[in-house]
Amino acid sequence: LFVTFEGIDGSGKSTQARLLAEALRAEGRDVVLTREPGGSPGAEEIRALVLQGDKDRWSAETEILLFAAARRDHLERVIWPAVAAGKTVICDRFADSTRMYQGLSRGDLREKVDALHSLMIGQEPDLTVLVDMPPEVGLARALGRQGSEERFESFGVELQQKMRDGFLGLAREFADRFRIVNGDQPIDDVARQIRTLFDAAED
Ligand code: C5P
Repeated sequence: LFVTFEGIDGSGKSTQARLLAEALRAEGRDVVLTREPGGSPGAEEIRALVLQGDKDRWSAETEILLFAAARRDHLERVIWPAVAAGKTVICDRFADSTRMYQGLSRGDLREKVDALHSLMIGQEPDLTVLVDMPPEVGLARALGRQGSEERFESFGVELQQKMRDGFLGLAREFADRFRIVNGDQPIDDVARQIRTLFDAAED
């Protein structure tokens, strides 16, 4: 099964992706926990180019191409081999993040993102867990972290609200694979609900 976690910055999706991976591994299952942008050596280099550089270094269109290149490398080197070997792959962010961040944050480029994905990516998850969270709560959490690469400060609450609404819209658009979990609850409760969704997706 190929499972992705999506949500705004500070939603707790990375923690939840890790908890699900740990729970499955504790049962002796072969799990690959990975993340985007990044996830393979080449894609991590591209991540550094995009996230650590000056925020105006790349145009919106170039950024889409960089994210697509990173995703293709990640699929070829990590995700596809693991899925072919029968492993469970859990990925912290995937194409839906690009549909939102690159597709909506710097103009309306969603159609270009979709066209490039159908041409060069062509892979959708079996299950996408959307960890939903009000932006003010996510912001408070994200700012509490040290040394993170969060773009929150440059994005601001208003844009995060747009991203949240966008993710909820994607969940309706791809209702077959999306499941929404309320992230504004105790971590263990969220984890338990996600485990139930995972088990249901496996059947
Ligand atoms: O999920 P993570 O915290 O690793 O994301 C790092 C930063 O990159 C976040 O601020 C996120 O908003 C941003 N991002 C982005 N476009 C993506 C994925 C993440 O701008 N496709």
